[in-house]
Amino acid sequence: MTPQLVDPFQRAITYLRVSVTDRCDFRCVYCMSENMTFLPKKELLTLEELDRMCSTFIGLGVEKLRITGGEPLVRKGIMTFFQSMTRHLDSGALKELTVTTNGSQLSRFATDLYAAGVRRVNVSLDTLDADKFARVTRWGRLAQVLNGIDAARTASLRVKINAVALKGFNEDELLALTEWCATEDMDLTWIEVMPMGDLGNEDRIGQYWPVSDVRVQLAQHYTITDIATRTGGPARYVRLEETGQQIGFITPLTHNFCESCNRVRLTCTGQLYMCLGQEDMADLRAPLRAFESDLLLTEAIHKAIALKPKGHDFDYSRQRADGQVSRHMSHTGG
Ligand code: SAM
Ligand code: SF4
Repeated sequence: MTPQLVDPFQRAITYLRVSVTDRCDFRCVYCMSENMTFLPKKELLTLEELDRMCSTFIGLGVEKLRITGGEPLVRKGIMTFFQSMTRHLDSGALKELTVTTNGSQLSRFATDLYAAGVRRVNVSLDTLDADKFARVTRWGRLAQVLNGIDAARTASLRVKINAVALKGFNEDELLALTEWCATEDMDLTWIEVMPMGDLGNEDRIGQYWPVSDVRVQLAQHYTITDIATRTGGPARYVRLEETGQQIGFITPLTHNFCESCNRVRLTCTGQLYMCLGQEDMADLRAPLRAFESDLLLTEAIHKAIALKPKGHDFDYSRQRADGQVSRHMSHTGG
């Protein structure tokens, strides 16, 4: 099918990330402050509106949907939404439906997710140490997440672990995390911490552990082969020859991978962010609510894609977070 959403830099937009809630049962230090004020319910797209939004994008050539948040699996009734997306998988219009989760609710929902057509989930986990886990997530409990991962694998979901690389926090667990993922047959991706939101006392530059350094440290223990897997996102992949595992590195700060960007992000209030690192957004909720048909919405989506910027401006090189954007990661869903 000829892609219908093509931006001014000739990039076809085929991947939509959707944040279905700004709420979360954790308070990770790099993502949220301890006392968050969440949006009033009426601001959020209803589950029916989320369906309309996603279905319109799918009608315009989006082939991959990733559901995120906040914590997507704490949104009330969210399984109804997943089940409603199954029809697009069945029709072949949607190639993949995935979810990024903190894992806390997977014990409850893994089987239903699989039944709805989800085959892969990304679980965010930065440490295997229960005390450190409680510290970094503030409200999270490691055992609950490990049980969730077990439930996902029992339900035949393929699990990928996402770990945020944090200086002085999980540097010493590089090998332990790698070996645990190898034993459990899970891929692992390291994410560089990004300058999102104003989180008060957290010293973000102090937390910054470049994933280029993660790679160098891994290379001291394993034979690393670059592999060509590209997802259209800011990740590069290598294979560890000794374990056969795929390790990803997401480096939005050290390199610009914007040239192959195929994605846009929808917030739970219906704002479309054309780039994770820019403030520019288009409100899609107003055209969605204004009209029963999807005509205005489709027009607004086309207009927004025509404004997708070439790339972002994150830069730590001068020891300050240039290009910092003021919203939290939980707003755009990472
Ligand atoms: N709650 C779900 C989770 O934690 O996986 C989904 C939403 S969370 C915002 C998506 C991803 O963003 C997680 O992997 C999280 O670790 C990552 N993240 C949050 N804040 C970040 C930051 N400041 N820099 C880099 N990654 C961040
Ligand atoms: Fe919640 Fe995910 Fe943000 Fe952690 S990273 S506070 S789990 S939304």
